[in-house]
Amino acid sequence: MTAAAPSPSVELVDVSKSFGALQVIHGINLTIPEGSFAVFVGPSGCGKSTLLRMIAGLEEVSDGLIAIKGREVTDLDPSERGIAMVFQSYALYPHMTVRDNLAFGLKMAHTPAREIAARVAAAAAILKIEPLMDRRPGQLSGGQRQRVAIGRAIVRKPDVFLFDEPLSNLDAELRVSMRIEIARLHRELGNTMIYVTHDQTEAMTLADRIVVLRDGRIEQVGSPREVYQDPDNLFVAGFIGSPR
Ligand code: ADP
Ligand code: MG
Repeated sequence: MTAAAPSPSVELVDVSKSFGALQVIHGINLTIPEGSFAVFVGPSGCGKSTLLRMIAGLEEVSDGLIAIKGREVTDLDPSERGIAMVFQSYALYPHMTVRDNLAFGLKMAHTPAREIAARVAAAAAILKIEPLMDRRPGQLSGGQRQRVAIGRAIVRKPDVFLFDEPLSNLDAELRVSMRIEIARLHRELGNTMIYVTHDQTEAMTLADRIVVLRDGRIEQVGSPREVYQDPDNLFVAGFIGSPR
């Protein structure tokens, strides 16, 4: 068997974004291979969320193309892109049980009831939240809520998971344990994951590919070892090297 290059999962071609007169993303070109864990890292306001939201289809691109699994999605709705996004604000439905929170999106998509039950059970097992299924969000800890939010993404069986600072509302100890959970999830599911954070430690420990952003431009793309040991410039060296 010959070793084929991994196929691209997400491709950005000359992607730019302006809000009115303010250009915040400047002609980004980026290929994220199938199955990789890519982390967008950079200072607050550098455009990480905007870039992720354009991949998700929650924000229109001003210029350029986005493809997911070889299919151009630039003008498709979020629901048509094969992605699922996890935010830092968990946005769970407070009046619904955990089980119903997990099932809700699938019900809206008219997924058959048996299929919903099977996917919800599988997600609950992966995230170890089976004992919580009849609780409501108000009866959960922050970490448990974040697990449910991730569960809502898992049940959709997306090609690509998008995370926007999913742990930044958690205390330091919980952040570490959830980080380990997310790394395990990536190993078990094998999906492409794109993860946004301003936290260098999170980036260095989760990523197989780090994308360092500054003012809407890519400063460097590489493995954690590459960007740490062989930074392309002083900005990358300072940002990756310095403690928060
Ligand atoms: P990050 O996630 O890296 O902190 P963002 O992508 O949220 O950065 O923001 C990048 C830049 O775009 C910032 O200057 C921000 O103020 C601006 N921006 C983001 N969203 C909007 C919007 N809806 N309208 C106007 N400006 C925005
Ligand atoms: Mg952001």
